[in-house]
Amino acid sequence: MVFKTIGFAGKPSSLPNLRRSEMVTIEEAQGLVFNSVPEPKVIQLQLEKARGYTLAEDIRADRDYPPFHRACVDGYAVRLSDIEKGQLKFTPSGTIYAGDSDANAPTGGNCVKIMTGASLPEPWDVLFKVEDCVESEDGITIPDKKPAKWYNIDTKGIIIRSENIIIKKETSLDIRSVTALAATGQAFVSVYDIPTVAIISTGSEIIPISQEPKPTQIRDVNYYSLLYGLQSMGIEPSFYTIVTDDQKSLDAAILKALESDVVLLSGGVSMGDSDYVPSCLEAAGVKQVFHKVKVKPGKPLWFGVKGERAVFGLPGNPFSVSVAFKVFVEPYLNKRAHRFSQEKAYARLQSERTLRGDRSEYFPVKAVTKNGQITVTTRPHKGSGDLLAMPETDGVALHLSENRELNIGDEVEFLPW
Ligand code: AMP
Ligand code: MG
Repeated sequence: MVFKTIGFAGKPSSLPNLRRSEMVTIEEAQGLVFNSVPEPKVIQLQLEKARGYTLAEDIRADRDYPPFHRACVDGYAVRLSDIEKGQLKFTPSGTIYAGDSDANAPTGGNCVKIMTGASLPEPWDVLFKVEDCVESEDGITIPDKKPAKWYNIDTKGIIIRSENIIIKKETSLDIRSVTALAATGQAFVSVYDIPTVAIISTGSEIIPISQEPKPTQIRDVNYYSLLYGLQSMGIEPSFYTIVTDDQKSLDAAILKALESDVVLLSGGVSMGDSDYVPSCLEAAGVKQVFHKVKVKPGKPLWFGVKGERAVFGLPGNPFSVSVAFKVFVEPYLNKRAHRFSQEKAYARLQSERTLRGDRSEYFPVKAVTKNGQITVTTRPHKGSGDLLAMPETDGVALHLSENRELNIGDEVEFLPW
């Protein structure tokens, strides 16, 4: 399997000035989308809310960890120097519990009982588990062995040294990093902001799925595809509405949606008489970057920007929406949230395929990974309106237009769902 680091291959700087009607290739479109991402914004977030965000600063420890010589087991602490003299019987002077201050530690005696997590004051430097000692009326007997100094004790700062970097900038915050952040008191962290995203489903035939459809109405599928796509990235949409194909309603919805950083519309971007999305977006001050991509599905894709906001006018067909989300929207959002963890994956094709038409095509596939090699097989697919093209697939693979035929064993780009 060949992996490439993430980043679109398109080079927008070398692109010709696009004429308004000019179709762009997938790579050009990806390059234009990727290069429209503004500088990521750094915000302060409560640690509770920061899961999935990318850290915008190195985090240094504010103190040693553990901050004291810490008992790792429940047991009896003695002096190494006594053991070295061959002493086995000891008399505890009292018990130290977790959280007890060193100032109140029991004194006198040649041994102390201590609980896990408690601070070991001087002079104790060896700790035997309670279950390894024999307790009797006149004291305790430790096992006859010669441990090293600090046996069963984490010394002050052994895990983290004060001022050392404990989690590096650019780390994605998850269960692995949160322990160190919590341990060093990072109640707030600086992270790269995750954009807010609005969803508009357009079409006079489109209704909420909770409503009983009339014969010519269609339930809003695209909202749910986009919702799940966003949720898989840790994003809850900030706004959602369905609008009919009339300019006034569309204008109002777009105005509201533009309060978010990113707007995802579906439907209404083709050549139909009621496809008002591009003109309404431009009327709202969204500048078209491109309209139409040489790709199947997803040819009518419209993309534009307004300041730091980005608007994707996605095609209406559900399969096209899911593919366009994977190919264009997800990488845009990842870059904007400063997440760079994905890699492009490549797979070996297990079946032959002939391209119909002259556009590169994403086709649904079933994938198997064996010994690190992904192989994919095509799945039946009845075009971009085929709702059942996806449930039994693992992703889509790309048939580039340069190759009319794909043969068994050919390498194809693979995008898992
Ligand atoms: P359009 O791009 O608006 O011409 O729509 C293309 C096709 O996708 C039409 O058959 C629409 O009914 C369908 N479609 C558009 N939006 C949705 C949606 N939100 N959910 C399900 N199907 C849709
Ligand atoms: Mg429509």
